[in-house]
Amino acid sequence: MLIVMDRDATAAQIDAVVQKIQSLGYTAQPMPGGERVAVAILRNLGPVDQAHFLDMAGVIQAIPVSRPYKLVGREMKREDTIVSWPGLEVGRGRFVVMAGPCAVESESQALTIAERVKAAGAQIFRGGAFKPRTSPYSHQGLGKAGLKILKKVREETGLLTITEAVDQESLRLVVDYADIVQIGARNMQNFSLLRCAGRVSKPVLLKRGMYATVEEWLMAAEYLMAEGNSRVILCERGVRAIGDHVRNLLDLATIPVVRRESHLPIIVDPSHAAGRRDLVAPLARAAVAAGCDGLIIEVHHEPEKALSDGAQSLYPDQFDTLMEEIKTLRPGGWK
Ligand code: PEP
Ligand code: MN
Repeated sequence: MLIVMDRDATAAQIDAVVQKIQSLGYTAQPMPGGERVAVAILRNLGPVDQAHFLDMAGVIQAIPVSRPYKLVGREMKREDTIVSWPGLEVGRGRFVVMAGPCAVESESQALTIAERVKAAGAQIFRGGAFKPRTSPYSHQGLGKAGLKILKKVREETGLLTITEAVDQESLRLVVDYADIVQIGARNMQNFSLLRCAGRVSKPVLLKRGMYATVEEWLMAAEYLMAEGNSRVILCERGVRAIGDHVRNLLDLATIPVVRRESHLPIIVDPSHAAGRRDLVAPLARAAVAAGCDGLIIEVHHEPEKALSDGAQSLYPDQFDTLMEEIKTLRPGGWK
């Protein structure tokens, strides 16, 4: 942390800050600048509370320098994390595509879509069995029956599966039936759920909350890692938009920002950002161009009959085209 002194701060006021830092057990390093002095706090192992300094005479600001996300951040681990399964990796240049319906609706629906997205090159099948819906009257998902269908999809197609856990009970079931646990935007700061997901043996896809700053999102990932789960994938899915031209505003800057701050893989969900199918492919292409590690995309063979998010689900033919476009955009080729 840097304690920035007022330009008129006296030597006694600067010395009082130095004494305060030392009394807390840290090392103080005054740094005279052109106009003012800043005092650096060194040798602190954890975060320093700025409240110690803000009401001291002559102090105008306390600026945190080191990051609060210790395990997620690059300060402790410089090289990119690769999350892997037998035969598949994401991160450090390895790219994955997860695709499928918003919700698992029936065995034939799931298998039909799974065959199509697999043929197009997707490696992971998505499909919600527990749906966090805005309205309690909307389709809430098939629950355990949906998870059984996901297991069947895995057996029939060989695709890995990802599905959302909305609470501790569904988390236990998801871990039994699926390969990746999804924590949705609405639960990004459900800290008790995060702690439980941090203790499971499966990788976790952590979506960004619709109002979350990058720091809050990375701190949510820190909960997972602090409990011992190092297989964390971040997913940008857009934040609340101004106007109704999109469902959420896809924040593509998070790709380079998260890459600078964290070693974890970051993928993008253009479907929940777009909210309408004609915008999904342009957003997906932009995300690939911005350097994401993968995509999660909603696809439905009969979107007009879909029980949730039909309007943003690609037809399988549109998904085929998008996959061809992604291949041309990725300099390292297709993984
Ligand atoms: C989903 O992926 O089905 C979903 C509900 O997404 P989000 O949590 O990003 O809204
Ligand atoms: Mn959806």
